[in-house]
Amino acid sequence: MLKRYLLAPGPTPVPPEVLLAMARPMIHHRAPEFDPIFAEVRAGLQWLYQTRSDVLMLASSGTGGMEGSVSNFLSPGDKALYVNSGKFGERWGKICKTFGIHATEIKVEWGHAVDPQQVADALKTDPSIKAVYVQASETSTGVSHDVKALGEIVKGYENTILVVDAITALGVFDIKTDAWGLDVVITGSQKALMMPPGMAFVSVSDKAWAAADKAKNGAFYFNFKKERENQAKNQTAFTPAVSLIIGLQEALKIMKAEGLENMFARQGRLARATREGVQAAGLNLFPKESPSDALTAVCAPDGIDGQAIYKNLRVQYGMTAAGGQDHLKGKIFRLSHMGYADSFDVIAALAATEMVLKGLGHPIKLGSGVGKAQEILMVQK
Ligand SMILES: *Cc1c(COP(=O)(O)O)cnc(C)c1O
Repeated sequence: MLKRYLLAPGPTPVPPEVLLAMARPMIHHRAPEFDPIFAEVRAGLQWLYQTRSDVLMLASSGTGGMEGSVSNFLSPGDKALYVNSGKFGERWGKICKTFGIHATEIKVEWGHAVDPQQVADALKTDPSIKAVYVQASETSTGVSHDVKALGEIVKGYENTILVVDAITALGVFDIKTDAWGLDVVITGSQKALMMPPGMAFVSVSDKAWAAADKAKNGAFYFNFKKERENQAKNQTAFTPAVSLIIGLQEALKIMKAEGLENMFARQGRLARATREGVQAAGLNLFPKESPSDALTAVCAPDGIDGQAIYKNLRVQYGMTAAGGQDHLKGKIFRLSHMGYADSFDVIAALAATEMVLKGLGHPIKLGSGVGKAQEILMVQK
């Protein structure tokens, strides 16, 4: 037997309370018992998002929320700007292209964060840009972007909205949707929300609703205006992911019991222990700046294939982490610590990483990274 550990940056582990809630017999989404559940989850999402705006719930993976955030706010021929610092930033460009949007790319070298001044300059040069698309945490490189600074910049443009893919950020570190002027914030169920895959969430500011009113909407299923009307009445336009919404009610209870501050502190502590642990083991972090607290991207040591590390973690020790994507394939591996994670997930990940590397012939002192993490994670009385 091999006990399984899920250390991938999505899907992430789901707490037993959430799994049990989802195992309850099916209820009908138009029946009265669904109403209070939906209402509680709506309010809980506003709490998590730190917003007074509606947070729409969609039955799709996170990308559905991204797609809807292009199709609902822009019309074919409109101009947009997007930050491409990795696999998910690149996706903004592909979605814009699909909907006939003229999107200008700010290309950022993988492992780096965008310089907000570049966004400021681009908007100054062309104030007709209707939307700026960015990731709060670029999962392919493990780097976070300063969306607070971007909010400050975009606020100054009446007809430009800021759309933030916070799929590996919301619930991991502080994202103040309203206070920072983030017009549209997207997340998915299977990352920090401690849920299985299958739902996307999108908050929409008044400024973004105004943009939606002007846009020639090409969306049928991901029609945000139609969803807003329905969800205000605790309904959805189409059949919702009933079991997932019931699971989310439970996940939000767990998050509320911990509180936002404590949750961000825990996630930050796990991230720091992982980062310092891998470095104490003699490895290098991939991010050159602003590492995301959601996951840690680690460079494979010279002469060792990153894919072999990823594969051996899984095959030898039952740990599913992640490798690198595109040109980073074989060069890095990624350990997630977002969502339902604690000290011993990090310690297990570091211990297994050390064992795999030693097994691959890399000179590593067993326990070097683990010891460092233990120092950071020890409860200080
Ligand atoms: C996981 C993820 C997504 C969405 O991916 P789906 O597979 O559609 O859920 C988008 N952006 C980021 C940054 C992600 O980590």
